[in-house]
Order: sequence, then structure tokens, then C-alpha cells
Amino acid sequence: MKKVGLFYHPSFSRRSYLTVGRRLADFPAALETFLGREDVVFYECPPVEEELVLQVHTPELVRAVRQNPYCATAWHSAGGVVQAVEEVARGEILRAFAFIGAGGHHAGKDYFWGYCCFNDVVLAVVNCRQRTGVRRFAVVDTDAHHGDGTRELCAGDPDILHVCFCDGDYVSADGTKVDVDATRRPPKGVSRDDHYLALVEREALPRVRDFKPQILIWYFGYDACKGDYGSLGLTPDLFPRLAGVMRRAADEHAGGRLAVVLGGGSRTDLATYIIPRVIAELLK
Ligand SMILES: [Zn+2]
Ligand SMILES: [Zn+2]
Repeated sequence: MKKVGLFYHPSFSRRSYLTVGRRLADFPAALETFLGREDVVFYECPPVEEELVLQVHTPELVRAVRQNPYCATAWHSAGGVVQAVEEVARGEILRAFAFIGAGGHHAGKDYFWGYCCFNDVVLAVVNCRQRTGVRRFAVVDTDAHHGDGTRELCAGDPDILHVCFCDGDYVSADGTKVDVDATRRPPKGVSRDDHYLALVEREALPRVRDFKPQILIWYFGYDACKGDYGSLGLTPDLFPRLAGVMRRAADEHAGGRLAVVLGGGSRTDLATYIIPRVIAELLK
């Protein structure tokens, strides 16, 4: 059976960097539809171990995160992502959806900003390599903004493919670090949703296929949704479609192994509408 793990912690709904508007206020209640399913495993996110954090970030960053009240959820946020990727790597589950209270992709070695505290994805990669046989990862970032922290931390690593949909255009010499400008207007007659999906299919999928990762990590933010703070004019229904694309990409090119990590997005109504639909796609 294809099992899907849902990684959540109650603090994510109460206080966090990304809850200016308490975006996860309707969770975990909004997950009730998945209760009792044999193919769904619920996990309560553990705090990330400081020893692991210090392999990625400086002691100064750790101190600053500790002192920042908006980072109160940072430890459980990163801990959930680390566990999610490890469980997928071990084959305990095939796919994972990791909720977070504080984001990750704007956290570099010694800085953090933009609702982020610890770099959850890079911590998960480092942990996974130390504790499992998995070492080759593709990270597709469809949060509206450039994943500067992730890019900095994986810059010299040929075993991480990082394809980031943002406002840049870039391909590294070895082809493993890529920015795709997702801000351009679609051609006449093409909807923004269709344009965005086609861009992801054209720019990310062949790269993932050629790279042959052991796990696909999808850094998923809904801040690019119309009406949210990174709006690219996308509708809420784009995101489940995108989840379908990622699921198929993982099935075809990463042995099915897919970890979805929640990123940006601020509106509660959008979280409540989009996230369960994304999870439903993972259950197909
Ligand atoms: Zn963002
Ligand atoms: Zn980028």
C-alpha cells in the first residue's frame, strides 16, 4: 500500500512566523477527512536536534532564532521536515506532507528572513545522508520567491538538483542549480494557471528525469495564489494540479518517493481550501 505521512504540530496553528493571519487556524480539523484511512499515517513533529542544526547553521544564527519570538515554532517545523524526508527515505511511507509554522528556504548558513528560521530542506538532506543510504535529492521550489538560503547551502553540491521558480533566469554550469522566471505574463488566450503548469512541466520535469534523484522534495508555497502576498495571479485550484504533476514526476523519476514541504502563504481560507486538496492528490 502506498502510505502517505502527514507531519503536523499543534503549535503551527497557534503561534508562528507564518501566522500573521493564523493561516493554519482550521488545522488539524481540516484533516478530519483523512482520519481512519489505512494509507494515512499521522505524525506529531518532534523538535529538530541542535546537533544537526549546527551542521548547517552557525551558533550565532541558532542564538538569534532562540531569541526571536516569531521563531518559536522553528524547532518543530524543521524537525517535522527532517523526519518526513527520513521516513520516505526508509520506505516507511512513500509520500509525505510536512506542515510548518516557520519557513525554511530563506534561511542560509548565518542569516534568516522572510518568515523563515532554519533551513528545513537542507537539514533534512544532511540528516538523510547520515542516517539512510539516500544521498541524491531533487528540490523543486514553487514558492513565489527565490529560495536564496537553500541555494546558498546547496551551491557546491552536485547531488542536489535545485529548480526554483521565482523571478530569475539562471542555470549553473553543471545544470543542477536553476532559476526559472515565473513572473512573465502568459501568451494571449492562455490562463495563468495553464501557463504556470506548462512552465513547471517544461523546466523542472526533464531536469528531474535526467538527474535521477532518490527522492523528490517539493517546496510548496501557496503565496503565489491570487490575493496572497506573492501573487502571480494563480487560482487556488492550480495547486492540486501542481501536486498531481509532482506526484507523477516522483513516480516516474524518483521511485515514487515524494516529500512535500509547506512554504509561504498567509491566508487562512486558502490554506484550508488548498492543503487538503494537495494531500488528496498524494493519496492517488
Ligand atoms: Zn514566498
Ligand atoms: Zn530562484
